[in-house]
Amino acid sequence: MTPNDGPPFRRDTLLTHVGGSPTDRHGAVNPPVYRASTILFPTVAEWEASRVHANRFKVLRYGQLGTPTTFALEEAIATLESGYRAMLLPSGLAAATTALLALLKTGDHLLMTDSAYQPTRHFGKVILARYGIDATFYDPCIGAGIESLMRPETRVVFLESPGSITFDVQDLPAIAKVAHAHDALVVIDNTWATPYFLPAMQLGADVSIIAATKYIGGHSDVLLGTITTTEPLYERVRSMVAELGYSVSPDDAYLVLRGLRTLGVRLERHEKNALQVAQWLQGRAEVKQVLYPALPTDPGHAIWKRDFTGASGLFGVVLHPVPKAAVDAMLNSLRLFGMGASFGGFESLAIPMDSTRLRHLTGSADNRFIRIHVGLEDPADLIADLEEGFAHLNAAASAAR
Ligand SMILES: *Cc1c(COP(=O)(O)O)cnc(C)c1O
Repeated sequence: MTPNDGPPFRRDTLLTHVGGSPTDRHGAVNPPVYRASTILFPTVAEWEASRVHANRFKVLRYGQLGTPTTFALEEAIATLESGYRAMLLPSGLAAATTALLALLKTGDHLLMTDSAYQPTRHFGKVILARYGIDATFYDPCIGAGIESLMRPETRVVFLESPGSITFDVQDLPAIAKVAHAHDALVVIDNTWATPYFLPAMQLGADVSIIAATKYIGGHSDVLLGTITTTEPLYERVRSMVAELGYSVSPDDAYLVLRGLRTLGVRLERHEKNALQVAQWLQGRAEVKQVLYPALPTDPGHAIWKRDFTGASGLFGVVLHPVPKAAVDAMLNSLRLFGMGASFGGFESLAIPMDSTRLRHLTGSADNRFIRIHVGLEDPADLIADLEEGFAHLNAAASAAR
């Protein structure tokens, strides 16, 4: 018997068992790293059988189209996403841009959330425009009001929830209902929550993309993106991935599959720690607002509670106006929070954000903004580090006065 014989399992059980069968691997628990470009076939008949179009993305025929290591990860992601099948891209950004390229053509209109990850936004606004695809950016909190922006040629509505930088929670079911009534497809960037915390495809998304670089890889040592689609869209999107020439190394696929096994326990700990740190930050005089949907005071809390089963460890902190030098002094003094791009690894991060990129926040442009990723450290140590950081911030602020 294998886990696929019989009724489906719950998500933690799935995380432990999804992704190929050990019987294909001489019993090894983990799939070996198959390094292969050329695949040899002993006879013309077998060579010809491998070329059958319908088997293109299922059987081993040329390394560029996948290996048993990448097939195992694809199967695992598709199962967790409750999608038809998944495909792998060399980065999360490649997953977002390739999904859009596959689903749009000249003359089409794209609706993209204003809160999308900056490079995805750039692709929608600048690159797609070169090919005659028009994009409109909408308020992430628009909900069913998206109706007023739909045009006859609108083919894709792109969501990211919560959004990058401002963490606005989107009403996915309401937006999907309107989009589908207008024959448009719903694509979501589900990097922040992963399907572990947001069953995006069950809530109406036709395509879910994830930067597995973040929580799924989970160890800050690999770049990888995934696209999962419904059955009718699979061939169209998977062909585009192959035709653009993308392929993912088996070593990277192996690392991501290995990270996936502990996704549930890591995410639950990120959430517990992040909630503690976020609540502490809310009580600080220097802090104007903490942008974290798991906080009951957050504007997106009700929708988050309805649609998500948890919150990951990334949130925003808006400070009351202080000189830039004061924020710099704070960030430079931190011992545990590293300063670096990305998130979703086991370690805590804190970076300054450009307040001119805060699209929907009201208030002064002088606001200083910090993005925090809460890692797996003891939250008491993280809080002590931030407390010390605020002492540096306040000292530098008084010195500047
Ligand atoms: C990081 C990120 C991406 C891009 O992923 P890379 O693997 O770094 O290219 C896309 N979307 C979101 C929401 C992200 O946070």
